[in-house]
Amino acid sequence: MSRVGLREWLAIAPVIASGRLSRYGNGDGGPLTRFETAFSESFDVKHVLTTSSGTGALIAALVAAGIGPGDEVLVPAYTWIATAAAPLAVGAVPVLVEIDQTLTIDPADILRKITPNTRAIIPVHMANMVCDMDSIMRIAREHGLLVIEDACQAVGLSYKGRRAGTIGDIGAFSFNQFKNISIGEGGAIVTNDDHFFARARMYHDIGSVFRGHLDNANEPLLPGINMKASQIQGAMLNVQLKKLDPMVRRMRRRYDALSRILEDGGELHVGPHNDRANAAGLHVIFDSEEEAKSFAARNSRGVYRLHDSSRHVYTFWQPILEQRAIHPKMNPFAWAERKIDYSPNACPRSLDILKRTCRIGLGENYPLPLMQYFARKMARQNAAPERNLVPTPGIS
Ligand SMILES: *Cc1c(COP(=O)(O)O)cnc(C)c1O
Repeated sequence: MSRVGLREWLAIAPVIASGRLSRYGNGDGGPLTRFETAFSESFDVKHVLTTSSGTGALIAALVAAGIGPGDEVLVPAYTWIATAAAPLAVGAVPVLVEIDQTLTIDPADILRKITPNTRAIIPVHMANMVCDMDSIMRIAREHGLLVIEDACQAVGLSYKGRRAGTIGDIGAFSFNQFKNISIGEGGAIVTNDDHFFARARMYHDIGSVFRGHLDNANEPLLPGINMKASQIQGAMLNVQLKKLDPMVRRMRRRYDALSRILEDGGELHVGPHNDRANAAGLHVIFDSEEEAKSFAARNSRGVYRLHDSSRHVYTFWQPILEQRAIHPKMNPFAWAERKIDYSPNACPRSLDILKRTCRIGLGENYPLPLMQYFARKMARQNAAPERNLVPTPGIS
């Protein structure tokens, strides 16, 4: 996470002084347009649209792609609940897919979950760990499916030289408080497709009906909602974007250093990564649940067992598991072509992995030697836990 501080504060002051806080109707494009241009160059993607949240970005992406009632959308069993809720917002239903040891959607299980009703896959780059995009794109092309990348938790990360979020048909990012670009709330959609972009932009701004200046790629006007970002968000985003790549480089260096210490000195099993040369998310996998629990307990701050972050595990997504609808007649589950299974045992392999896996914070805002010191301590303790009963202070 990039810290928010003085530079963001200074950047929003002139926006407030100008009184031009909203997205449209202020003459030139302002900070939001400057951000979108810079983001599009840096990420090598044609269109960027800032939104008020990552959840909104996912919903607008599904609308843009024409996903709706009767459609099934494949989502991983381990992600923030918004990934699974987004299809419901457009009338489609999420279908749960297992993750593998990379903590991302398992391509082999995607194949098992495809039905004649499947329209799209939402691979999620979880906690800065990228998905197996080569396999996912191949499966999608073979089965005529769209790929909407949820890169909310991996802003700035790369998969084989391309930015996560720009590989599928549409990508969604989040800029909320806990993400790599952090402005409190915010998000973005990216795509190289003119029609998807036009539809997403119209949907994100109901007022686009009256804004003749926008080029809509000959797409008919859509009734939308409002999930526009403000120019204050734009001003903060311009500062945060400059901090992004240096921060990812700090994470990369810490990943390399820490994973080496844990593997060599601590006999710990660092989890596999779909692109280890670009890895910036560190997790260790144990043989048993008990070992993972005791490792997390010994190393309190900065280390936690994934299953304990219940919010990200499908078994805790109550409104979805119970197939609730916002209105009895607006019920995506009634429009689905078949009964969808969300039993607690829908994805047993994911639960097994999450119970045996701990995530280790990379401490990207702390000095590297300090993080190496903590990693060595963690490694020593793991190699000989009985000689080290005093808990380490931990990292964050
Ligand atoms: C944060 C997040 C979202 C949603 O982002 P918001 O900006 O909070 O709406 C979606 N998917 C994943 C995986 C996330 O981590």
